[in-house]
Amino acid sequence: MNRATAICFEPLDGESTSSLLLRAASSLSPVPGLVVEGLLGDAEVVASAVHRQDSVDAIVSNLGVERDALQRTMIHRDGENLRVGPFVVRTQDIDQTHRRVCPAALRNDALQGRSPYQRLNWAIRVLRFDADTGGSIIDRCGCGRDLLWRETARIDECPACGCLLWEAAPSDSECQDGEAVHFLSKLFSNREHRREEARSALPSEILEWTEADLLELFETLGLFSHPEVLMRIPRADVELWSRAAGIHATLNGMGAIRNLIECAFEHPPAGADRFWPARRMAFANLAIHRCRSSRARDLLGELLRSFV
Ligand SMILES: [Zn+2]
Repeated sequence: MNRATAICFEPLDGESTSSLLLRAASSLSPVPGLVVEGLLGDAEVVASAVHRQDSVDAIVSNLGVERDALQRTMIHRDGENLRVGPFVVRTQDIDQTHRRVCPAALRNDALQGRSPYQRLNWAIRVLRFDADTGGSIIDRCGCGRDLLWRETARIDECPACGCLLWEAAPSDSECQDGEAVHFLSKLFSNREHRREEARSALPSEILEWTEADLLELFETLGLFSHPEVLMRIPRADVELWSRAAGIHATLNGMGAIRNLIECAFEHPPAGADRFWPARRMAFANLAIHRCRSSRARDLLGELLRSFV
């Protein structure tokens, strides 16, 4: 890395820092790991590049990346949440263990003559399809091996079998929660008009909420459909299902949200013991209490109280 050669790398549209570093490193050295190690201190931590404010100066001076452009490739703290490009998400929404990539988008990159690169928003776990290509986002190669950042030398290659991920046409997995998947793809799109289209389907009360607030609302709301069952299961195990149920209700408006909450007041099933209604209400309150967004907690609490 010699500045005299006037190296100047620019992030591609929506690129992540980890992708930028790997791309730069592989064009600078036959041993890209050494370049990454020089910048981050450890070749195996390329995933951490998105968080590494302490490496910004080194990357700017060694790779000639413009400072503001570099910051746009990074993930930033925003209170308890994280800012990822134009999005605010919860820390658990980011997966930087797996390298999440969309083979269809990588194929487009190759067809258009640019290096296949990882978009920063693909690190958002709830995003399962790339909005721009409609292709699925994968974190496992067709050979069965997980794509792990710590084994990554090239964005578009499987470290286990060596195949180019965009050459094997992935069969787009069937999903039962198509409405939720479609909505989230637009909500987390890199294109502003798609994000606006997603938000235009939301009730006006929550139109301006951050993505982190919305995800908390969806997942908490979904618990209301079967609170006595779902509240006993670890939240991570039911979040896909509850998120889809919450999104479905939300896209149908405040009336549908109220209907879901009304489940807490349903008549007991035949044979239920006399504590059933109290227990169900306790679960409903607990679901709201556990919600980590104060906006979502306030809205749901207000709706629940309106039935009492
Ligand atoms: Zn493979």
